[in-house]
Amino acid sequence: MEIKLMKNILGANDEVAAQNRKIFSERGVVVMNLMGSPGSGKTTLLEKTLARLADKIKIAVIEGDLFTAKDAARIEKLGVEVIQINTAGGCHLDAPMIQKACASLNLAEIDFLIVENVGNLVCPAEFDIGENFKAVVLSITEGDDKPLKYPLIFKESEVTLLNKIDLLPFTNFDLKSAREDLMTLHPSIKIFETSCTKETGLDEWCDWLLKKVEAR
Ligand code: MG
Ligand code: ZN
Repeated sequence: MEIKLMKNILGANDEVAAQNRKIFSERGVVVMNLMGSPGSGKTTLLEKTLARLADKIKIAVIEGDLFTAKDAARIEKLGVEVIQINTAGGCHLDAPMIQKACASLNLAEIDFLIVENVGNLVCPAEFDIGENFKAVVLSITEGDDKPLKYPLIFKESEVTLLNKIDLLPFTNFDLKSAREDLMTLHPSIKIFETSCTKETGLDEWCDWLLKKVEAR
């Protein structure tokens, strides 16, 4: 019973995701689904990314959070259009939520839509929202065992950001083994080592994003 219900939920979600994807493609919008644990640094990374790219391409942001609009307020300060989705306790965003949020965006004017998903390493990876690609932020303080413990999100993501890389000397995070596990799970995965406090790896990450948006 439970398995059948889950299949139906995902099937209905996939239908709306396909509609979203069609509209994004018609309007020429590239969409990134940004995922990662709470505290992995998604919003700070987003701020740093917007600071580098917002004068080059037109970006809008959708912020997914359980309750508050704290992250949306941080993005708004940068002068970037942002829509807050509160899931009222729901642990992921789904395609209908994105469809609804997009109704208040002028997609034809947007080059790049960044969706910051709810902080969670599990179900955000199961719900297609119609994005072009998924990205996952894994901070060094979370531990090098996370790729093998939460394989789906790393298999689904085109890119992993090993964030807070400046904290490496203060942890027992094994960078070599984490990279090997990521490559085993997803041989073509792109890996960036980033630190938002030391500003490392961010230019490379933003160059990569810009190329993806320009290639649409
Ligand atoms: Mg956040
Ligand atoms: Zn969930």
